[in-house]
Order: sequence, then C-alpha cells, then structure tokens
Amino acid sequence: MKKRVLITGAAGFIGSHLCDRFLAEGFHVIGMDNLLTGSLDNIAHLFPREDFDFYHHDVTKFVHVPGNIDYILHFASPASPIDYLEMPIQTLKVGALGTHNLLGMARAKGARMLVASTSEVYGDPLVHPQVEEYWGNVNPVGPRGVYDEAKRFLEAITMAYHTFHGVETRIVRIFNTYGPRMRVEDGRVLPAFFSQAIRGEGLTVFGDGTQTRSFCYVDDLVDGIYKLLMSDYSQPVNIGNPQEITMLEFASEILALVGNPKAHLVFRDLPVDDPKQRKPDITKARKILGWEPKYTRKEGLKKTYDYFKKVVKTD
Ligand code: UDP
Repeated sequence: MKKRVLITGAAGFIGSHLCDRFLAEGFHVIGMDNLLTGSLDNIAHLFPREDFDFYHHDVTKFVHVPGNIDYILHFASPASPIDYLEMPIQTLKVGALGTHNLLGMARAKGARMLVASTSEVYGDPLVHPQVEEYWGNVNPVGPRGVYDEAKRFLEAITMAYHTFHGVETRIVRIFNTYGPRMRVEDGRVLPAFFSQAIRGEGLTVFGDGTQTRSFCYVDDLVDGIYKLLMSDYSQPVNIGNPQEITMLEFASEILALVGNPKAHLVFRDLPVDDPKQRKPDITKARKILGWEPKYTRKEGLKKTYDYFKKVVKTD
C-alpha cells in the first residue's frame, strides 16, 4: 500500500511542485485547491494518473477526505503581496480556519502535518540574516498584516496542536522562491521583471531598488520541505537561499538574460511596509536536515526564463 499524502494549494506554484515530488517518491497524492489563485494548468499532467486524486474544495470549510491519510501539507493561501491586498479576508481565513480544519483532520487520522509558514513572520526584520529564534517586526494593521498575522497564527495553532494534542507537526518558513509555474500576473518581482523584459517594457523597480531579497529555486525548496517532513523536528525551520541581492541588481540580471533592447528600468513608489532586507540563516536546515540549496541563481533563472518565454504573451 502506498502512503497517502494530502496537499492543499495543490494547483498553486509550490503545491504543484510538491505533488510532482511526492508522486516521484512513490506516494499516493490527494491534491486540494479552491482555485482562487491556483490553476489547473499546473497539475493537468497529473490527472491521468491513478495515484493522483483532486478535490476542488475550500479548506476554510470543513475538510473531509475518505480513507487514511499519512501526511498533510498545508500550502493553500494567496501568497503574493498583490493577492493578499485583493483578498485580505480569504488570506486570514485560510491561514486561521483552514489550518484549524486541517489540524483537526490530522488529529483524527493520526497524520503528520507540515504547514507552510513564511519569512513574512519576521516582518521588516531588525535582525539580519533572520534566524528562527527572531520573533519579528510585524505591523498587524498594515496591508501585509493579513498575511503575516495569518501565518503567525498558523504557527501558533500548529504548535498548540503539537503540545496539547500530540499531533506530529512540522513548520517550514519559506523565503522568496521562484521557478516555473509562478503566475505571470501575480505582482511578485520575478514574474513582473521577466514579463516586462520579454515584452520590451519598463521593469518596475519599487523605491530606489536598494531593498534586498534572497531567491531560492523551487526544486531546492521542495527538497528542503521533503527532508523536513521526514525529520523529527517540530520547531520552525527556515528554508531559502542565502544569496542576497538588491532589486536593482536583480533587474539588471534579468535585463541581461532576456537581452531585449527595448526593455529598460522605471522607478515606482515603494509599497507600504515593504521589508528593506531579507536573507535566511539556514544553519538549522544544514545541521538538522543536511539540506542546502544546490541551484545557483544563474541556473535557476535560466530554467525559469525558459518557462516565462512560453507563457508570457507579447502582443
Ligand atoms: N518589487 C519591485 N518591482 C515589482 C515588484 C516587486 O521592485 O514590480 C520589489 C518589492 O518592493 C520588494 C521585492 O521586489 O522589495 C520583492 O517583492 P515581491 O512582491 O516579489 O515579494 P516580497 O518579498 O515583498 O513578499
């Protein structure tokens, strides 16, 4: 009998890559998504498989899946700043009510559950690079608060189910991740820059572009998540790539890679509460999971460019 894993947010960017990985590892995968920000295109290749089922369901409502479940990975959530500005209530509900429903199911089925948290729990961080012990600098009532606080609640309720009910839980804090299947129009910096460069438009650098991020290729992230799930460590673990870069440098790298002479830089206002710097300390992941990212940004960006070339419309 194959082990059965439920993946919420299965039609999303990271969720769909998780489905691929768990199928490759020999699991029976049950994908769940309400398709609010996910797309069936990301998992269309899985529908013919007998070891894949899909439920079109909103996890903020009671979740029922017949049969046993060995593992649950909760990856459903709007995840880009534009998405959670447009869907603030859904963002809060999926992090809070959705996580509660799934923890209840994990408890009932004796499943181990891994929840997707985020570097956003550190807010605009005053500690650099971010270590898991840092509690963060979050504005609860700012525009990002709906995402940051939902994820902080997700961590709190997950830990409570672990300590009070003895549910086996894992918490991954995901830093900026990129790769094929990112939504072209989700407003995040990488899809924005790639689509603008391919179309020969201005790359919209927010602020003066000196703010930093650290980008992890999706296959590396998925590998870290897999290792964390299989570990026995229930405290939060950062998974991300510590190679830090300013947004201005990042725009230049994409301009050079795409090589469209019409593309150029334009400057726009910095969004409210935009973190000034972000870089994971991955000492824990290295020590506890024996994990570290393998892809350089050059390799990862090339693979991602191949995807965006296919999906960005140029007329
Ligand atoms: N950003 C930018 N231009 C864009 C979109 C984003 O300069 O068109 C900047 C944004 O201000 C932030 C960084 O890129 O400093 C990463 O933004 P993103 O929305 O990808 O995710 P975040 O890391 O802020 O959650």
